[in-house]
Amino acid sequence: MIIGWDCAPPDLVFNQFVDRMPNMSRLREQGCWGPLRSSHPPITVPAWTCMLTSRNPGQLGFYGFRNLKPGTYDGAWIATSTAVREPRVWDLLPGHSVCIHGVPQTYPVKPVNGMVIADFLTPDLNSEYTYPPGLKTEIDQVADGYLIDAEGFRTEDKAALLKQIYTVTNKHHLVNLHLLSRQRWDFFMAVEMGPDRLQHGFWKFCDPAHPKYEPGNPFESALADYYAHLDAQLGELLALADENTLVMVVSDHGAKAMKGSLNINDYLIQEGLLCLREEVPPGTRFKPDLVDWSRTRAWAYGGYYSRVHMNVAGREPQGTIPAADYDRERDRLAAFLRAIPDDQGRPMATETLKPQEIFTGPYVNAAPDLLVYFDDLSWRAGQDVNNPSLYSFDTEIGPDDAVHDHHGILAMAGPGLSSHGELSGLQLMDVAPTVLTHLGEAVPSVMEGKAIP
Ligand SMILES: [Zn+2]
Repeated sequence: MIIGWDCAPPDLVFNQFVDRMPNMSRLREQGCWGPLRSSHPPITVPAWTCMLTSRNPGQLGFYGFRNLKPGTYDGAWIATSTAVREPRVWDLLPGHSVCIHGVPQTYPVKPVNGMVIADFLTPDLNSEYTYPPGLKTEIDQVADGYLIDAEGFRTEDKAALLKQIYTVTNKHHLVNLHLLSRQRWDFFMAVEMGPDRLQHGFWKFCDPAHPKYEPGNPFESALADYYAHLDAQLGELLALADENTLVMVVSDHGAKAMKGSLNINDYLIQEGLLCLREEVPPGTRFKPDLVDWSRTRAWAYGGYYSRVHMNVAGREPQGTIPAADYDRERDRLAAFLRAIPDDQGRPMATETLKPQEIFTGPYVNAAPDLLVYFDDLSWRAGQDVNNPSLYSFDTEIGPDDAVHDHHGILAMAGPGLSSHGELSGLQLMDVAPTVLTHLGEAVPSVMEGKAIP
């Protein structure tokens, strides 16, 4: 049984809220726990699929929700389940019954020996988001109107958002209880996106270190209350697991306070690396057709990390950087990005990563030319152009208080596990080999993690 809490950070679950999470504490005492190193990049897509295939994104071929077809400017595509070519752990359990609820990159649903309820990439409730299709009606009744995800979480209406996150989480929980009661499963996995939505919407209210924190605000305990609620639900799920069940509670990455949003394309414009065809209104959404490619050397996508693309002769349709200069130009661009200071002129702990140094596999060269973590991810990147400043303090699409962090969580207990306490060095890709080993299946040699002993 794998319970996924998207975006749950070790500091909240293992430290700050420990007194309000007795079920998590008991699970940790009975088995082992520790921070779980996320993928590069530490983003929902690809992180959950890295966890469940035990492969890095260079083997999988996607680097975020949105990806760019190599050699194009506008070939953006979304990595749904159809992009997942490698088997996930449940595909490697022949003869075992499996039940999968809300795991990212399961829409469109594919048949399994069991049941699937797809993830937040499901377009809407009219879509076929269950396998078998008839399961949809069943869970709709159980949940009194099933909901996939909290909609529009980058909103100023915080009271409504909080209510909606609880509503969605509670519906998912009712469905989990139902699925666990209706049949014995060999493999059960449910991922709740609520922690991610809540943290992006409420971090500033709960963290005194957040630049926008206001003491005494009405949402001061929103995060702690929600984790206490999740913990109570965890207790109900654990009560349905027998003594042979290995239980894991995991997250795909962590979270921390967002310091701001760096308008990377404006920086590239200012530096003369990106040229637009004409003046655009303030805060224009960056689109490839705004660009004068004949005078552009680099452009970027924003998000919790930035994907920087270079315009290389012979690779892009109107490439300007001679292929022979590629390495030197990329190093120069990386050094320029690392030298960008924060809004107060202070140096940032920015990391620029070359895909060839962090990924392996057939799709390494489909990655962006650089992956950029501004100030160790504390600053996200904004891709809009002609902003009033190089620095913004919301996203292009609404308020957001949290960014992602490199470590999620793992807590695990089950048969044969005695109290091991905290483990170090755990990583996402260890999860699938651990499950296969527990269920007596061979671990394919291509898997990059190792079974947690
Ligand atoms: Zn996530």
